[in-house]
Amino acid sequence: MKTKTTEDTALFASMVAAKQGWALNPDSDFVGILVEGLTTNWNRYGYFLCPCRDTEGSREADADVVCPCAPSWKDVEERGHCYCALYLSRPFAASGKPPASIPDRRYL
Ligand code: SF4
Repeated sequence: MKTKTTEDTALFASMVAAKQGWALNPDSDFVGILVEGLTTNWNRYGYFLCPCRDTEGSREADADVVCPCAPSWKDVEERGHCYCALYLSRPFAASGKPPASIPDRRYL
C-alpha cells in the first residue's frame, strides 16, 4: 500500500468537494487537522476512515464511514455540512454560519 502525505489527502479532499459541488470548511487550520487525521487513517488502515469516528475493525465494517462517508450527502443537504464539518454545502458556506455539532447518522 502506498503511503499518503497530507498534501495527497488535501488534494483528495478538494477533488471530492469539487466533484460533489460542496465547499471545504473555510477554517484552514481545522481542515488541516482533519486532513492529518485522514492521512493517519489511510497510512494505518489503508483507507480514508473518517477522522471523527472509530474503526469497527475492518474495511468491510467501516465501508459506510470511508470518506466521503455514506451519511455525508444527507448531512450536507439537510444540515449544511458533514459530521466532521470538512465538507459544507455551498449555501451553508456562503451563509458564514459556523458548523454545529450534529448527530452521527451511522448509529441512527
Ligand atoms: S463526516 Fe464523512 S465526509 Fe465528513 S470527513 Fe468524515 S468521512 Fe469525510
